Amino acid sequence: MKITSAEFVMSNSNVAQCPKDAIPEYAFIGRSNVGKSSLINMLTERKSLAKTSGRPGKTQLINHFKINNNWFLVDLPGYGYARVSKKDKKTFQKYITEYFQKRKQLVCGFVLVDIRHDPQTIDLDFMEWLGSNEIPFSIVFTKADKLKPGVIEKQAQSYLQKLLEGVWEEAPPHFITSSSNRMGREELLEYIDGINKE
Ligand code: GDP
Repeated sequence: MKITSAEFVMSNSNVAQCPKDAIPEYAFIGRSNVGKSSLINMLTERKSLAKTSGRPGKTQLINHFKINNNWFLVDLPGYGYARVSKKDKKTFQKYITEYFQKRKQLVCGFVLVDIRHDPQTIDLDFMEWLGSNEIPFSIVFTKADKLKPGVIEKQAQSYLQKLLEGVWEEAPPHFITSSSNRMGREELLEYIDGINKE
């Protein structure tokens, strides 16, 4: 897919105020510093569409970008646990869970994980939450340039294997990316394009 236009539309923390356009929407989420802003800029070939920063938790809003005038790319805040009940039950920030549960235009979530790391509890918990809410998602491995080419696929497979040892019967689709060398860009955009054309 060629990116012909990428425009910032709005930021908010309330799903009810998200754009009304009935066009497909794809949401990117992950822990702070996972490389989300860099990936969004790499995908859209815009230097600073999403704000990159070493400062964790900077993007605290739901940011909508309209791509090629026919789909939304959504930059979601990094997730974290919000402790809600007296029993200290852990849940995710309310506006993130509301976004995924209520946003009808959402086609697929992309959960970003750093390819160098073993599965982290918060990522596993979030994916489990998506699964139990029947929200389609894919895993996007980031920073693949940090590994030697020979071990990239092995590391991804070992991550997916660990998912299968948990609650998952089937691994979600995955993409291996690097914002430094544009690895995975075409695959991810073609995946989105394929769904948009269905
Ligand atoms: P965000 O907090 O998830 O939006 O992460 P950023 O995109 O701001 O990236 C966090 C840090 O990781 C920055 O120092 C980036 O330069 C670095 N980074 C992001 N993506 C990559 C990548 O693909 N390769 C490498 N080597 N570094 C990356």
